[in-house]
Amino acid sequence: MALIDIYGRRHDYLRISVTDRCNLRCIYCMGPEGVKQIPHHQILAYEEILEVVKAGAALGISKIRLTGGEPLVRKGLLFLVREIAKVPGITDLAMTTNGILLPQFARPLKEAGLQRVNISLDSLRPEVYRRITRCGDLGQALAGIEAALEAGLKPVKINTVLMRGINHREVPAFLRLAQERELHLRFIEYMPIGAQGLAHHKYYLPLSYVQEQAARMGLPLEPVEPPQGAGPADTFKLPGGKGTVGLIHPISRHFCASCNRLRLTPEGYLKSCLYWQDEHSVRPALGDPAAMQELLQRVVSLKPEKHRMSPQQKPGLLNLQAMRGMSKIGG
Ligand code: SAM
Ligand code: SF4
Repeated sequence: MALIDIYGRRHDYLRISVTDRCNLRCIYCMGPEGVKQIPHHQILAYEEILEVVKAGAALGISKIRLTGGEPLVRKGLLFLVREIAKVPGITDLAMTTNGILLPQFARPLKEAGLQRVNISLDSLRPEVYRRITRCGDLGQALAGIEAALEAGLKPVKINTVLMRGINHREVPAFLRLAQERELHLRFIEYMPIGAQGLAHHKYYLPLSYVQEQAARMGLPLEPVEPPQGAGPADTFKLPGGKGTVGLIHPISRHFCASCNRLRLTPEGYLKSCLYWQDEHSVRPALGDPAAMQELLQRVVSLKPEKHRMSPQQKPGLLNLQAMRGMSKIGG
């Protein structure tokens, strides 16, 4: 049995947000005070997350991504990685992280069975990195990238949210990085999700901007086969480049028609779409594998056709459909 929705989309990818807590405070993700934290007792235990993974694997889920908040701030995460890696049918196990704790964890994660990482990096300039993350140290994030490469958590992808007036002038520097290093850059459009959606009109820049910049630099972006797990990214290579450049444009060119994702929140809600507020708790199905499979199928059967994010998001209006903040979804 497979997880196929009424639009014929097959779901083989589960993104698990293991915590809403974070050691950074990125401006596009949360307010300066952070988020109101979910109490510990409401967070799914690792054994409970594993029940969802096993039920999903029985229905064709083969790819898992651990995310957050910052997944590496949750204690004992190596246990979860080790156990997920053992689940039959899971062939791709990845993580999205800000990289700050990777110098400590990259090697043990690899040994536990993690295959690869996406590392968020929105600036190559220390003061801009601090401004975006509000408290982060660029040197630590860069050390995390090196640790991931050394540990073989490859392909190492770099997630960069493009923001007008904040980091858009750094596009050439990021392109050079993808030329010089074995790093797979992915520019992402700013999404109006959660309270940070209020700033969307201020920061949003379509990714055609990246293509214009590459042309200006005389660097043609040649379409290539994407690296493993590239998902919705349009992928390009620069002349002589060691890495690649990916463009993920959920707003200017949405990819809902090929969406294969389900999401699990830290408190145990399944979401079939990043955007819509529909959520379904897994708690009633815990301890009953058949009920968990039924729930997954129901969630997929109710999946909306597409999101409603647009470049013309009205300034200053809170989006009632997408109230759950990014750190409580996992991106
Ligand atoms: N803490 C980890 C990290 O930053 O990589 C994982 C969680 S974070 C919520 C997952 C991804 O969502 C990051 O790559 C981040 O850049 C992205 N993200 C967060 N808020 C976003 C927004 N408003 N628009 C676009 N991407 C966003
Ligand atoms: Fe933390 Fe990631 Fe959100 Fe930044 S994007 S505040 S690192 S969860």
